[in-house]
Amino acid sequence: MLNLLLIYLIYLISCSTNLVLCSEGDKHYIYQSCLHHCQQINCSTSSGLNSFHLKQSVFEQLTFWSCPDECAYQCMWKTVNHMQKNEKRVAQFHGKWPFIRLFGIQEPASTLFSIANFISHYYYGFRVIRKRLQYRVHPLYNVWLCFSIVALNAWIWSAIFHTRDKPFTEKMDYICAIELLDFEPIAWIIDAHSLWHFSTIILPLLWYQFVIDDSNYLLGAPYH
Ligand SMILES: [Zn+2]
Repeated sequence: MLNLLLIYLIYLISCSTNLVLCSEGDKHYIYQSCLHHCQQINCSTSSGLNSFHLKQSVFEQLTFWSCPDECAYQCMWKTVNHMQKNEKRVAQFHGKWPFIRLFGIQEPASTLFSIANFISHYYYGFRVIRKRLQYRVHPLYNVWLCFSIVALNAWIWSAIFHTRDKPFTEKMDYICAIELLDFEPIAWIIDAHSLWHFSTIILPLLWYQFVIDDSNYLLGAPYH
């Protein structure tokens, strides 16, 4: 059993490594030449960097868009435009589909749905457990409270990751999501991953209702 678990973990790590290293889009000659040129002009001299910082919006500064990040974003869309005109299908970049940036947020739909999941776990989980179950009275009180806190933590990391994609935040988010579908984002905002997050918003309502009923049942108390 342990061997199987180990093999599965190695498989997951190898998958995520391939995901991060490169994709068809970021190997494209237009992307590569654009990136090199953009970084040379904007990111390699103090005057270039000053000009870059002056052009940045407050949202982009707050969400830590660096000069190389900005070059990668602009060059991605330049390459996407070329692909749409000449190559019919759009490729992924660094393992991800292109997304339109909104208020500095890299993946707006997934960020929004992650926040909605956090709110759902807070209102239907953490808050309801503290209100309707009692410490040292209901069995498994601590387990369910910890469960809700772990879920809240997961959705915080998910929202942070989808706001800005960094290697650490990516691992913190993707460790819990293994999608079965993948497709080009609708309007360059909604992809399979964001829909996966959308689909889980309602689950805490059902799950924590079961938790409350089950805890009352175990206590022998009337439940409703
Ligand atoms: Zn996610």
